[in-house]
Amino acid sequence: MSKTAQSVWNNCLEFIKDNIQPQAYKTWFEPIVAVKLTDSALSIQVPSKFFYEWLEEHYVKILKVSLTKELGNNAKLVYIIKMENTYGNKQPFTEKIPSSNRTALKSQEIDIPLNNKNPELRNPFVIPGIRNVKIESQLNPNYSFENFLEGDSNRLARSAGLAVAAKPGGTSFNPLLIFGGVGLGKTHLAHAIGVDIKDKYPEKTVLYISAEKFTQQYIESVKKNNRNDFIHFYQLIDVLIIDDVQFFSGKSGTQDVFFHIFNHLHQNGKQVVLTSDKAPVDMQDIEQRLLSRFKWGLSAELQHPDFETRVSILKNKLYRDGVEMPDDIIDYVAKNIKTNVRELEGAIISLIAQSSFNKKEITLELANQIVEKFVKNTKREVSIDYIQKVVSDYFQMDIDTLQSKTRKRHIVQARQLAMFFAKKFTKASLASIGSQIGKRDHATVLHACKTVDNLSSTDKQFRKYVEDITKKLSV
Ligand code: ADP
Ligand code: MG
Repeated sequence: MSKTAQSVWNNCLEFIKDNIQPQAYKTWFEPIVAVKLTDSALSIQVPSKFFYEWLEEHYVKILKVSLTKELGNNAKLVYIIKMENTYGNKQPFTEKIPSSNRTALKSQEIDIPLNNKNPELRNPFVIPGIRNVKIESQLNPNYSFENFLEGDSNRLARSAGLAVAAKPGGTSFNPLLIFGGVGLGKTHLAHAIGVDIKDKYPEKTVLYISAEKFTQQYIESVKKNNRNDFIHFYQLIDVLIIDDVQFFSGKSGTQDVFFHIFNHLHQNGKQVVLTSDKAPVDMQDIEQRLLSRFKWGLSAELQHPDFETRVSILKNKLYRDGVEMPDDIIDYVAKNIKTNVRELEGAIISLIAQSSFNKKEITLELANQIVEKFVKNTKREVSIDYIQKVVSDYFQMDIDTLQSKTRKRHIVQARQLAMFFAKKFTKASLASIGSQIGKRDHATVLHACKTVDNLSSTDKQFRKYVEDITKKLSV
């Protein structure tokens, strides 16, 4: 019986199917068409250049093994890339492919030795040296739900994350937007969702990526004329996790491409998880249509952890590291580092390091020295508490008065100034500023900021207030 392209390819497929994840098989092998067989060279047609790069990057070994089994040691694989008519630039793809090691056949055929490794032909996700399936998700297994301790500050976000992980794309939390200040666990929680989904649904394609990297990839794809491949790749994903979407602000091209990818995924019941350092209402230079998409699902805030949560985060960390530490020291650290879990962990790590390098016992005094350093460093960033103190001192009232419900004009103004400066000098969301300055809502804070802006351009005395307080806060 003589071999045909089809029969050879079918045998290869059978072998490949047995050796890779079903989802990967479906995505990357089902769309391939066997075209012709000449001597020991099999030509296959792939949907795009990106597709070909992906195969080369991830499946070259298995392709080689299967083909060698069928056609012997001289087996060769020829990719034929289907031209994409949707794309404006009609140059043959071969011109963009470095010619080393390969011969162009027809304009869109590339003959590739199976052991080819050309660094310039890469999918957007190459991490040099690492190529197993798990890493493709770019997830950090240490960032699990188990290690993400629950407290009042994160209960909503954490439970929403768990719900999403149990039923990706199947809850109304789509997209799930996790927002909050620096070091409060956004990245950790985002990974935890991905890790849990990968665990429950190994066949799903999960991808974690920072908004920054996504943007770079996008720009790269525009440069290389394969924007469509870029979009195509992202549209294949079941669970897309994008970290720090505030990075998209002011980048209209990236927003546009993300908008299309988002719509496609959402319409197809795929899950999208986003994180941001601001609530959607406070995001600047993000297109309205994108913001409105963000609001389709659930926005859940990570707030500052309370004392109990800080203690349990520390204890959990120590337990995982196998380190013992007296309770009074843990309490001391937790009491003094309040607004950033990363710093909380950092202080404990320094403490352990100091004591083991210098063979010192961990004492309260040592803890005090270390915490001091951390707290001093963070003081550079003005806190809302500090702003309230400066403003109320300036007007010679106490903070309770500043926060009170009174409508007395000078108190209202002081409060509005505090809100204005909190917006100006901190990264806190309007909602969180409001809740810290007299339990007001975000609309009140927004109104305060506008009022201060107006008054300082129309009222001389008021402008003086703003200038004086700015000076005090900048020292
Ligand atoms: P963000 O992305 O919001 O800046 P990260 O997710 O990077 O913050 O968190 C900073 C550090 O704090 C990480 O090491 C993370 O594991 C830890 N962390 C934050 N929240 C928690 C929590 N609830 N339980 C345990 N660790 C936490
Ligand atoms: Mg982060």
